[in-house]
Amino acid sequence: MKDKLFVSSQLSLKSSNSVKHGEFTKISDGLWLIKDTCNVYLIKEKERAIAIDFGSGQWLHTIDQLGIRFLDHVFLTHHHRDQCYGLENESSFNFKIHAPAGEKDFLDPETREKTIDTNRFGRGCPISYSIPAKGIKNVLYDMGGFGYLFWDKKRIRFIQTPSHGPNACSIILDHNDKQIVFCGDAAFEGGTIWHPFNLEWDHWTGEGVLAAWKGLKHLSDVGMDLLCPSHGPVIDENPVSKLSGLTHRLIDFYNVKNSISPDEHDFYIEPQDLLIENRVKKILPSLYQYGNFYLLVSSAGEGLVIDPWLNDMDVFNELLNSLPGIRITAATASHYHLDHCDALDHLRNSYNTRVFLHPEVAAPLNDVNQSYVPWLPVESITPDEFWPMSGTWKWNEYSFNIGHAPGQTWWHTVFRTAVDGMKVCFTGDSFQPNTRWNGTGGFCAYNGNRFLNGFGQTSKLIQQWNPDIIAAGHGSFFRYSKSKFDKITGWAKKTEDAIFRLCPENDVLKHYYSLGVDDSTDVYNKPDVSLLKNELFAWYK
Ligand SMILES: [Zn+2]
Ligand SMILES: [Zn+2]
Repeated sequence: MKDKLFVSSQLSLKSSNSVKHGEFTKISDGLWLIKDTCNVYLIKEKERAIAIDFGSGQWLHTIDQLGIRFLDHVFLTHHHRDQCYGLENESSFNFKIHAPAGEKDFLDPETREKTIDTNRFGRGCPISYSIPAKGIKNVLYDMGGFGYLFWDKKRIRFIQTPSHGPNACSIILDHNDKQIVFCGDAAFEGGTIWHPFNLEWDHWTGEGVLAAWKGLKHLSDVGMDLLCPSHGPVIDENPVSKLSGLTHRLIDFYNVKNSISPDEHDFYIEPQDLLIENRVKKILPSLYQYGNFYLLVSSAGEGLVIDPWLNDMDVFNELLNSLPGIRITAATASHYHLDHCDALDHLRNSYNTRVFLHPEVAAPLNDVNQSYVPWLPVESITPDEFWPMSGTWKWNEYSFNIGHAPGQTWWHTVFRTAVDGMKVCFTGDSFQPNTRWNGTGGFCAYNGNRFLNGFGQTSKLIQQWNPDIIAAGHGSFFRYSKSKFDKITGWAKKTEDAIFRLCPENDVLKHYYSLGVDDSTDVYNKPDVSLLKNELFAWYK
């Protein structure tokens, strides 16, 4: 049955000298691959054609070489810039543009400001790492999971294959008696994923990874002769077995997104007392905790605040009123996330507190407008004094061991001191008891997480220090156990491996850690990240 929806009109076929000949790679009769910012596929019937994805659209000017006079439809597999940015500058084309249902939130210039935050920088993890700068007008969001449309008598089937976002679709059509699957970025050659950081839809769960796995399980069963991804080569040899390899790798990645130290008890430390309507815990005679902060007091009546968050300051002030004679002379932060440091200036202004920061923690805070990292405070923060990169620091009777401690994020420190005869290690967000989230505050590439030279290296440092108490962020203080940190070291290796095997081209830096900031195929409207980029990559050399 012919679908009347599809009425095509003639393209204006101008030739352009800027486009070189030979950019079309013939895959089979009437099927071409164009290398653009993504792979664009053209399918031709007589003198008409459709395109899968669009890229820059420069190729439009030369398709007359292929005998194509009419482009009827463009089908976008997903909303990422590299798939479609050439569609942004004009409000109408002589072809219809289709996108998966749900992608309107990212593409529609009229409504998307209300549904998504297009300025992702300085906030939490984004739902998309590549939102087109302006959006695209007049898109039909009619590609639904397991649905279809007709192009003349050709049926075009859509199967939802979430990966680069939750709405992404694969497109299936029969051509020359072969079943061809255009899978977008759901799969790449060798059972890998192009830029797998796109599977991290939040900062800690494996939800996106599991959705990708489910989609590929469906796709593996449809029967296919040719798998045409959005990047890299066309896969014509055993595409189903390649997908099967990929589903195993996805499950490995999903599994490491679960507990980082399975089957370890959470032996919390019973506080000595509960103050301020049971909200503040007096853990030891000299150590108090509420929300994200710890207050350590010295025999001379001075106070050191660790991880002050503005949200906690009302209770902090109440606590201080109940401890007469304590002067808040020093403050620090375990890492740069706003919920661990955004009250540093408040303390400085209110109590004349000196702010001490580890150099790595201070780096993203120095100019928050230049930092390509999530959960920054609104205002930049500069310390009065830097801690050493590693070594010791004295404050009153307390002597601290200090280390650079990447884990949840690269810009993190841990430090240990003796409090009332107990060795206490302050660990911020990297290490949590197993009853809290997945035994960590979570990890994702956008947060600058590190494994072997992050969680693993930091675990070893903490084992060397052999503390009695782990004083972590978000109110978790628990008994140290060596076995927990042994498990984390093993998990870090497993995680590093799982991510490495998911990355194409054996390039984990390009495809995972760097979030595509150095990727020439996706450079549109990137922020100036030069300031932090060097630090982001420095660890990898
Ligand atoms: Zn993509
Ligand atoms: Zn954090």
